[in-house]
Amino acid sequence: MLTPEYLDTLPDAVVALWQQVEDDILKDIAERISQLDELEPLTSTAAWQAWRYEQMQACHQDALSILVRYSKRSRDTIRQTLLDAGLETLASDDALYTALGFAPSAIDTNETLNNLLNAGYRQTLGAWQNLTATTANTVTGEFERALDRAWLQVSSGAFSYDAAIRRAVDGLAGRMNGVTYPSGHKDTLEVAVRRAVLTGTNQTCAQLQLARAEEIGCEYVEVSAHAGARPEHAVWQGKVYHVGGAAELDGVLYEDFETATGYGTGPGLCGWNCRHSFYPFFPGISRRLYGQEELDRLAAKTVEYGGEKYTEYEITQMQRELERRVRKAKRRFLAEQAAGVDATAASVGLRDARRALNDFIEATGGKLSAARTDVAGFGASEARTTTALAQKQERLDTVNAELNQAAQRGILNPSQDGNGRNPDVNFVCKLDRELYKVVTEDIRTDEVIITDERIQHIQERHPNDYERFNSYLPEIIQEPDYIIRDKRPQTGMVLKEIVVGETNEHFRIALRLAAVRDPANYKNSILTFLKIRESEWERLINNKEILYRAK
Ligand SMILES: [Zn+2]
Repeated sequence: MLTPEYLDTLPDAVVALWQQVEDDILKDIAERISQLDELEPLTSTAAWQAWRYEQMQACHQDALSILVRYSKRSRDTIRQTLLDAGLETLASDDALYTALGFAPSAIDTNETLNNLLNAGYRQTLGAWQNLTATTANTVTGEFERALDRAWLQVSSGAFSYDAAIRRAVDGLAGRMNGVTYPSGHKDTLEVAVRRAVLTGTNQTCAQLQLARAEEIGCEYVEVSAHAGARPEHAVWQGKVYHVGGAAELDGVLYEDFETATGYGTGPGLCGWNCRHSFYPFFPGISRRLYGQEELDRLAAKTVEYGGEKYTEYEITQMQRELERRVRKAKRRFLAEQAAGVDATAASVGLRDARRALNDFIEATGGKLSAARTDVAGFGASEARTTTALAQKQERLDTVNAELNQAAQRGILNPSQDGNGRNPDVNFVCKLDRELYKVVTEDIRTDEVIITDERIQHIQERHPNDYERFNSYLPEIIQEPDYIIRDKRPQTGMVLKEIVVGETNEHFRIALRLAAVRDPANYKNSILTFLKIRESEWERLINNKEILYRAK
């Protein structure tokens, strides 16, 4: 019998290999999406269609050659997985038979068993090959949709090239379908390969076991049990059944194995994604492996985490989810790197995912499995790069937090005059809350202020700007050319070009918006204000995420 734990990790080697296939394809697609900036925003539809078609053809070709590159190793790994599992299950059953005085025949010369193993391998491999025959088309479809979305964002002026490319790449790094089932349902390569290998192997092993049981003359089996079994399987797990019709023995009724468990059908025992199995049972002689005590133990919530109690299985599943998050963050970083866009956010995401996993393991006494968070192509050098980027962002965040606090201290200054007004706060203008919704949804007031502390800051950093241009503040805020995402929370970078005298001047304001969650006396507050060079203006609108652009 194969234990539920064995079946849980059985597909790991094949899954790891196909994760690599997925990562290779993703990297290729990310590089293609990054070439979007070859196109001018005003490219004609015909030229865009021609470019897009060419890219899709190339993507399809690349996917096919990646699949070819992995096909031999994939076949070998599937074969080895199946062989190991088949021998393991026979060895554990044979040990039981031998202990009871039976003499099972040698496996290597047993034609029935070898035929079953070979047929199982051919079937599992065939099923998998049928699915991966859809992979090149499926990933090209994913690429097509991502490309169309990115182009729409760029050509409509909603996003800069950089922002649109990063969004497209991040989306695919988060989830990219790799197979299409005959039903039309799509899935990732990782999920599909786990299911195909687990199901194919478990079915083959069950057939080997039943052939062996027939050879020995064993008519009863006990089905294994595991925590977290789906409800349809929980009703029949951990019980003894008679193979070949219901039977009564010594006053005990044993249900028919196939009818009760649905063995041999997709939704039944050893069917799709099933981690149940069974082992030979001799009523009156065998000891129950899954008696009530064991079933209770499996269902017991013994691990404490975050003030709640969980079963061991639940804790394992939670750890797997955190491990997947680490892998996803690494994949996102590699894809962004391949696309040549700023990978700071991905690096911060990876740091956070790692911390969450480490904290969880420490709190639950689990074990860190490096293999489960590995991504091919993410080595020591990538780890150093992400760490450095995350640290840089951390320093920036600290500086910004201090700046924000300083700004808010000004607003919250308790020294109010007799009219309940804060003399350090200067009213600037009102803003259009609809317009600034792109920065934060729940803006609480339309009043914009600037504190004395901020005015002083602006005067120190950008001499004369405030004196000369502060009369333009309402115009900039009320009719901005661009609103760009600022790194600080609830803050927008507001850009406007204004004719001053005979020259075109460019202005930039950092505006922190007062949201519902802020204290009641907070107003929308100008943090910085300066005149910028045209080259800086160009850099900002070409490289930053544009939230709003005037028509
Ligand atoms: Zn099951």
